[in-house]
Amino acid sequence: MSKTFAINAGSSSLKYQLYNMPEETVIAKGVVERIGMDNSIFTIKFDNQKEEKVLDIPTHKVAVELLLNALKEHEIIKDLTEITGVGHRVVAGGELFKESTLLNDEVIKQIDDLGEFAPLHNKAEAEVMRVMREELPEATMIAVFDTSFHANMPAKNYLYSLPYEYYTDFAARKYGAHGTSHNYVARRAAEMLGRNVEDMKIITCHLGNGASITAVEGGKSVDTSMGFTPLAGLQMGTRCGDIDASILPYLMKKLGLTDINDMVNILNKKSGTLGVSGLSSDMRDVEIAAEEGNERAQLALDMFNSRVIKYIGQYVAVMNGVDAIVFTAGIGENSPETRQAVMEGLTWFGAEIDTDRNKTRDEAIISTDSSKIAILNIPTDEEVEIARDVERLKNK
Ligand code: AMP
Repeated sequence: MSKTFAINAGSSSLKYQLYNMPEETVIAKGVVERIGMDNSIFTIKFDNQKEEKVLDIPTHKVAVELLLNALKEHEIIKDLTEITGVGHRVVAGGELFKESTLLNDEVIKQIDDLGEFAPLHNKAEAEVMRVMREELPEATMIAVFDTSFHANMPAKNYLYSLPYEYYTDFAARKYGAHGTSHNYVARRAAEMLGRNVEDMKIITCHLGNGASITAVEGGKSVDTSMGFTPLAGLQMGTRCGDIDASILPYLMKKLGLTDINDMVNILNKKSGTLGVSGLSSDMRDVEIAAEEGNERAQLALDMFNSRVIKYIGQYVAVMNGVDAIVFTAGIGENSPETRQAVMEGLTWFGAEIDTDRNKTRDEAIISTDSSKIAILNIPTDEEVEIARDVERLKNK
């Protein structure tokens, strides 16, 4: 039996799950938060137990050391050599990485260099890879890219209508995101429907704090709502989604801003559901406020749902049809109200949600028996997909 890590490092956090493979049982999981700040938080859950410690964790290196020590302390492992595989989630793979890739010094450097596309993520991810390779030199280590599922979209869908040289010279194009999740739920949907994913047209709606929608044809992403960075597409918790670029200089003048980065920061952190509602980026808070009659909260909900509906409609057109629509991630999995509101805007296509079946947070087909399009709720599992990729590359 081998133990495999799925690691998801952010600028100040490190999420992890340790699996027994190939059984895919989770033997430990948790998160290190506030790395590099005061009062960092280390949590580990295992065997129905939970430990939480507040201490200063100055670097990702210290976070990894703490984690590996905790695994030994709690006798989850006896020796580090039991961990034979590690899969690292990477946000930006650019044009270089079209599939999950075994790590070596050169690959880690390339991931680090791609930090230009995802400044908050890639650098931290590369740092964690270096540390883990020192600690676990024998383990098979791979990078799994959020972008690689979208890497083979047709050029007509990934190019921006900008001077073509900006693509050839600077790699400026749509890369998408949440690829591991879209891939997982599309395949799972086909399994649940007893069909072959290669024969299907599926629209996957990953609706979380970050949100994106993908058109999956024949098991491949053919178009997706996120863009050069995860700022594009839907309205998100704090991100604005699609916007007319000309509004930037106009607003900068009105706001007295001179640095474009300050403006982009507003689009990333102060906009979306938070900006419109003026209340919260968390859909639960906004749903409650809307029920209590708060009009801005209702508007934020309506805008969120409307954009989801528009993207689904767009992707029905992109694929000239659709067999299944899948909801996943924090909002998609947990908010029957959102699924109901979205699907009620799409009845023209013959999609019919079953109100009773929709009252669920679990894996389920939630369309009526007579619906022309299957509608599914599928909790995403990016971690198991990462662990599976480790096994796949290990056995290659
Ligand atoms: P994620 O980024 O996938 O972890 O999703 C996080 C988001 O899911 C939160 O910000 C919430 O807005 C949303 N969420 C979680 N539970 C619910 C719920 N019961 N109803 C509506 N939204 C929820």
